[in-house]
Amino acid sequence: MTGPDGAPEDAVVKGGSSIEPWLREILRCPACRSELVDAVGPEGGPELLCTGAECGRAYRIEDGIPVLLVDEARAGAPGPA
Ligand SMILES: [Zn+2]
Repeated sequence: MTGPDGAPEDAVVKGGSSIEPWLREILRCPACRSELVDAVGPEGGPELLCTGAECGRAYRIEDGIPVLLVDEARAGAPGPA
């Protein structure tokens, strides 16, 4: 475990949101517990989209911090406004 490491930050995040990979793995939709995936909101901001088929909520990300509040979530249903 003490070998020489020559690439400390070689594989940094490429695009996408600024959510840490380890953090995103443990994140779950507070409404249905489904996994969340990166998405882009209607205003171009990053958000986390619930993968639940019957949920589809989208949670915005503020300053790299996902707002995982059901009351703050945006309904992801692609129906008419
Ligand atoms: Zn959900």
